Amino acid sequence: MQNLWDDAVADRLDPVGRLVYRSNLLGQDWRITNTGGGNTSAKLMERDPMTGHTVEVLWVKGSGGDLRTAKREHFASLYQDRLIALQAIYAGLTPRGPKTPAEDAMVDMYRHCTFNLNPRASSIDTPLHSFVPHKHVDHTHPVACIALATAENGPALTREVYGDDVIWVDWQRPGFELGLTLQDVCRRHPNARGVMLGGHGLINWAEDDRACYRLSLELIEKAAAFLAARDKGQAVFEGAKYPSMPAAVREDTLVGLLPWLRGRLGQEQRMIATVEASPSVLEFVNSAAASRLAELGTSCPDHFLRTKIKPLYIDWNPHAESPGDLHKKLDAGIAAYQADYAAYYQACKRSDSPAMRGGSPTVVLIPGLGMIAWGKTKSESRVTAEFYTCAIEVMRGAEAVDTYTALPRQEAFDIEYWALEEAKLQRMPREQELSRRIAIVFGAGSGIGKESAGRLAAEGAVVVAVDLQQEAADQTAREILARVGAGIGVAGTGISGCGDAIGLAADVTDRDAVAAVLRQVVLAYGGLDIVVFTAGLYVAPDAQGRVADGAWMKTFAVNTMGPNIAAEEAAGIWRAQGLAGSMVVTTSVNAVVAKRGSIAYDTSKAAADHVIRELAIELAPLVRVNGVAPATVVAGSAMFPRDRVIASLIKYGIAWSDAETTEALRDKLAAFYSQRTLTRKAITPADQAEAIFLLASDRLAKTTGQIVNVDGGLAEAFRR
Ligand SMILES: [Zn+2]
Repeated sequence: MQNLWDDAVADRLDPVGRLVYRSNLLGQDWRITNTGGGNTSAKLMERDPMTGHTVEVLWVKGSGGDLRTAKREHFASLYQDRLIALQAIYAGLTPRGPKTPAEDAMVDMYRHCTFNLNPRASSIDTPLHSFVPHKHVDHTHPVACIALATAENGPALTREVYGDDVIWVDWQRPGFELGLTLQDVCRRHPNARGVMLGGHGLINWAEDDRACYRLSLELIEKAAAFLAARDKGQAVFEGAKYPSMPAAVREDTLVGLLPWLRGRLGQEQRMIATVEASPSVLEFVNSAAASRLAELGTSCPDHFLRTKIKPLYIDWNPHAESPGDLHKKLDAGIAAYQADYAAYYQACKRSDSPAMRGGSPTVVLIPGLGMIAWGKTKSESRVTAEFYTCAIEVMRGAEAVDTYTALPRQEAFDIEYWALEEAKLQRMPREQELSRRIAIVFGAGSGIGKESAGRLAAEGAVVVAVDLQQEAADQTAREILARVGAGIGVAGTGISGCGDAIGLAADVTDRDAVAAVLRQVVLAYGGLDIVVFTAGLYVAPDAQGRVADGAWMKTFAVNTMGPNIAAEEAAGIWRAQGLAGSMVVTTSVNAVVAKRGSIAYDTSKAAADHVIRELAIELAPLVRVNGVAPATVVAGSAMFPRDRVIASLIKYGIAWSDAETTEALRDKLAAFYSQRTLTRKAITPADQAEAIFLLASDRLAKTTGQIVNVDGGLAEAFRR
């Protein structure tokens, strides 16, 4: 484990800046702590804005946020003396003790301890930091330490590794009582440098921040070295039950499986997948011990809140059994899982427990294929995959030196359905309209396609931007990611490790290329909901007003065969999912307005109108297919290169000069066109994207086979 501390950096920072720096260093390594897991603190002397006196302030990572990416605003600041004073209030409450309402009530009291109006909500781990009487405290979820913390003989192993340096504390739900327990440990063991939190993780302290960081690394390394020296290799999971599959066969099988599985798990609410097939995950799922260990479930509370109490393991022989057998086993496995989950809820629920939440697995383990994690967003499924990867490493360590034990079911339940967890869920912002949806946009490198990709992403969809040019597709994806953020969670094999947008290249007239792109979409996200087809070709006629035969055929290939290929190739995914889908194709008002000069383009768009109608019939009732017919969208359009704009300006007798930029010339032409419409407004890609969003979303859920003009109002293009 690398010591990343750099005095030259740290010494330039103020004390809170140093705490943020230390947190970011710890968060960088997944072996130290998982995404969103752990917290750090510093007790600093500050000037009280009310009294001017110097007071001790606890700066501690607040609720939400992540050590790796945390900034100053993610830390709460609280009067340390007031936090300590809460102990007297707590002592006056009856009944009190672990998991009593009195304990939970203390969480609301933290707000009364806020220093300097800091709005960051305190985490439930606040007393773990406050009641430890040392300046700097790190609490992490290191894989190597959790391995000891979940081993059957954890207390003895902890003593063997650390002697009196680290004291074992039995599993206890984080909160006020655990803070008091730690305070007591510090009193009884004044020389201890940390505590092993049974079933949970590590907490350690020092009087100096650099020393605290170094101690965290030292303690984690000690555990890791202890485990490494006892590593059993493949034998730790009782050896391989199934040999590995070649990567290409694994991918083919996943492409066939994922949409079906997404539909099977997402009948109530759709989910997004992350596939993890690292060597360590494959070794686990292929092993003889996988079914036994998977059934035990995860332990660290951070882990199982995402992975659910246990994953769904399917005992499928990738070499002797068919994908059809796998479907059958998954069907039976999911049903059994849901029944188990309901039984767990019934057995553990208390009189005031929140209602049962969804009972489907979020982690599916399949020999040969690896792990498929599911979440309401791509980010969430990545985090879930990350956490179960951590859990596998925890089991590897625990089983190497001892026997892995999971948290007792009742304890797990009391965390999962804790009123404070429920309140956290209730506080979550409402999901976006297209959250959980997977969209692909053909022609996303420029103009309407680019705008639509951004529009769908802004509504919460994950978006695959496809363009003939890889660089243009990548650029659109990059711009989306810059707006929506990279998200959290470090997991995903190959393209499945992606964020909320990816760019791919394909020629829409090449069926194999379109099929290849859709395979990538399935591997990246698990399925497909929305197809937007805006790729189009306009070939300007020559001086005699003619389009060469080859160009004519190419125009038809892109504008009419293209959307049909996309629909036919996507249909397999839609049908496998069995979830309602939507397709939107851009045509043109030229489809219904006969005029001179663009016969190839106009007739191809007339045909595209009918492609939409026939696809609507073909794909009903599962998928709605509609069209948007723009007119003269000039701004930002790849179909209006400089030559075409100038030709049009000349045709309409509009003054222009070579010195003007292409965009300025386009604006000029757009202004001229707008004057021919009923609304007298220039038509932009954003106007088209709005209509595409409406048709793609559920807002027009009962409209199919229709073409909506977005043309500013052209009487000659009225549809009848
Ligand atoms: Zn923790």
